[in-house]
Amino acid sequence: MSFDLRAPVRNVVGSTAKELGEKLGITTVEDLLRHYPRRYYARGELTDLSRLRPGELVTLQATVQSVDSRKIRAKLHKLDVVVTDGRAKMTLTFFNQAWRAKSLLIGREAFFAGKVEMFRNKLTLTNPEVALDDDAEDFAGGLMPVYPATAKLPSWRVFKAVKVALDVALADGPLDDPVPAEVRARLGLLPLHEALWLVHRPNTREDVARARARLKYDEAFVLQVVMAMRRAESAALPATPRGSTSAGLLDAFDERLPFRLTDGQQEVSAAVTADLARDHPMHRLLQGEVGSGKTVVALRAMLAVVDTGGQAALLAPTEVLAQQHHRSITTMLGPMAERGMLGGSELGTRVALLTGSQGTSARRANLLDVVSGDAGIVVGTHALIQDTVEFQDLGLVVVDEQHRFGVEQRDALRGKAAVPPHLLVMTATPIPRTVAMTVFGDLDVSTLTELPAGRSPITSHVVPTSEKPHFLERAWQRVREEVTAGHQVYVVCPRIGGDDGTADTDVAEAPTSDEPITSLRPAVAVLDVAPMLVVGPLAGLRVDVLHGRLPSDVKDDVMRRFAAGEVDVLVATTVVEVGVDVANATAMVVMDADRFGISQLHQLRGRVGRGTAPGLCLLVTDTEPGTPARERLDAVAATLDGFELSRLDLEARREGDVLGASQSGRRSSLRLLSVLRDEEVIVTAREDAAAVVEEDPTLAASPALLAAVDVVLSQERADYLEKA
Ligand code: ADP
Ligand code: MG
Repeated sequence: MSFDLRAPVRNVVGSTAKELGEKLGITTVEDLLRHYPRRYYARGELTDLSRLRPGELVTLQATVQSVDSRKIRAKLHKLDVVVTDGRAKMTLTFFNQAWRAKSLLIGREAFFAGKVEMFRNKLTLTNPEVALDDDAEDFAGGLMPVYPATAKLPSWRVFKAVKVALDVALADGPLDDPVPAEVRARLGLLPLHEALWLVHRPNTREDVARARARLKYDEAFVLQVVMAMRRAESAALPATPRGSTSAGLLDAFDERLPFRLTDGQQEVSAAVTADLARDHPMHRLLQGEVGSGKTVVALRAMLAVVDTGGQAALLAPTEVLAQQHHRSITTMLGPMAERGMLGGSELGTRVALLTGSQGTSARRANLLDVVSGDAGIVVGTHALIQDTVEFQDLGLVVVDEQHRFGVEQRDALRGKAAVPPHLLVMTATPIPRTVAMTVFGDLDVSTLTELPAGRSPITSHVVPTSEKPHFLERAWQRVREEVTAGHQVYVVCPRIGGDDGTADTDVAEAPTSDEPITSLRPAVAVLDVAPMLVVGPLAGLRVDVLHGRLPSDVKDDVMRRFAAGEVDVLVATTVVEVGVDVANATAMVVMDADRFGISQLHQLRGRVGRGTAPGLCLLVTDTEPGTPARERLDAVAATLDGFELSRLDLEARREGDVLGASQSGRRSSLRLLSVLRDEEVIVTAREDAAAVVEEDPTLAASPALLAAVDVVLSQERADYLEKA
């Protein structure tokens, strides 16, 4: 029997276990062994001090150059140790540790760990942890691992714990390996126990590279096995085939359609139709450039299902979007959406709307339409997932803007059908292929890249108010010109305002960028900007506001009036970010644009240029040229390619955030794998995983792999419960 890595770390490392748990979230031996070094020092290799940055937690190796020991007053002693890497110098300060002077002798090399701080314009460490190089003697053969540590748990103490854990874990011989031997042999990957040993105790850089290659593959492989099992599970499920019938709603709809479907839309629609006709549920992801016309594709699928007597549910991430979908689907269907009403079409259906803030009577009426089956199409927000919502015969679930929903939420909705329904997931933001494979690897992917013909491109400009304050005046003038020409304009602000200025953003997800907030001034707010515009630069225009704090009937009314052209300028938060579709809106001014992420800005500006008139997007910012924040804005202004921008956006973030807020379980299982850079690894792992699962669908023959899969699944479950 080989060692079970799930053993609690406290059984193995004793007193450090508590700190490992508290500071690093390490609870099992496996957690500890998979806490990989961040870098390695060769013996005597000094840290380049010029590269340190304030705020960084560092472990550095340096030579003591001089020591100054001083009593400042009674009970306060100060020891200043100047260290060097041979070029740069840095002063480390110890308070009340006079005894350290005995060992920190001039010329001596030592390790120091702590947080880099700025003091009097110089970088320093205060009271760092210290290891002399003779303590470090037993670190490793040639290379010394440096762990991502915390200030109070220095790297060398982590290493001591790892060393003990390695000895215990490998004492009974090789570990059970989740990666099959033939895969390892084909790819030249080390067995697990060797990889774990070498990643922590390498002699050479070559050792490190081989160990990391193997451990990186693990991450891709286990995730892809999870995906392959999900695919296999759903492929085995029964579903009601929804082959389209002729002379139904779908045909009537196609006849009414005022435009021709793009080639891409036709292709994707054909794939969806083929999926729906099968007796296993469709699981398809439709990703598309902003404005590429995903909704029509979804609506055609919904109508095909209604034609066969089923119902379709459309799940939207925000109330504004749900209301808009409801409005636009009802309009597109015309008399076909008025069954039972005077003038309604014979073969028609009804479109129900369910949102959280609906009045009781409206909600009751809609619920009734849903349970009776009178409503063939049901549009809603999270409220759709609630227990009280029952369908007559739910045949298709469409999830719009999937990045806002987790796997569990879409599963909850699918659970409302007697027979598993077909599933169509749509993403707002185009994502690179490898990210799609990692996040949506259990889905078939279709992509819409072309925009419907006749669209004029959007022109985007950065409006820099720090260098050119009068540019903002120009911007408001442009807004006036648009309105005079008969068009409408959005003004987007990062904050609602109207109170103390905290906790009132409408950002429905974690900040989309890692960039620090670029200014300490509170962000520009809707409730400040709108009155300012009304009395100032936009006097005489019809200005209204839209934000998340308004009651839902007011939101609905504002959007309806804006869509009807009764409002010239809509000052709004990011509630207009996704999906809002008003073809006559031609310009958008984004205030404090640097406070938004790249993909978010791309989404936002996708609200204009939806008709035949050219679109204009003005990104107002007071950031300085050349700063990262300004460069992001320049990038957005420079290209309209959503895939390119999404890649830039992802690269700007910490790797862990790439998978999005709803995917934290998955991200905690990725330590070495980069979903952006490791395309080859992911593609290979996907093929290998599919083969393994095909051969052994329950993984009965691979307990180690099954255990690894369980770890990923239980993390996902834990995240879901935490959020629920
Ligand atoms: P998105 O993919 O961003 O969700 P939408 O589905 O909201 O895009 O479509 C954007 C707009 O383009 C809508 O007003 C829609 O009616 C229109 N549209 C969709 N397909 C076509 C087409 N083939 N030709 C012209 N206009 C289209
Ligand atoms: Mg949309």
